Amino acid sequence: MEEVVKVFDCSIICGERTKEDQSEAFISKRSQTDWPDSKHNKEPSMAVDVAPYPIDWNDRERFTLFAGYVLGIAKTLKTQGRISHEVRWGGDWNRNWIVSDNRFDDLVHFELC
Ligand SMILES: [Zn+2]
Repeated sequence: MEEVVKVFDCSIICGERTKEDQSEAFISKRSQTDWPDSKHNKEPSMAVDVAPYPIDWNDRERFTLFAGYVLGIAKTLKTQGRISHEVRWGGDWNRNWIVSDNRFDDLVHFELC
């Protein structure tokens, strides 16, 4: 995200989640995973929730554009050996580059896999 924010202004909403935070996210259906199984529950966190500025929660296209940028940066960093993991986005869980088949949209969610 340090590389992403150089070009695409954004805000990190959350990284690591406590047991209470994860349970609240699970109960309110913002997450499909209860504690301790979310990548937000690892230490250090293996997931981050990030929103692009200007934040418009109803603008799925903007989140998709942002995610494409994040995934492109991640792929470049992986190719350069600067990160060791792939990145998965919550708008394309199966990582097939098709967003219309996504059954649970978590458009702010990015995780290392
Ligand atoms: Zn998340």
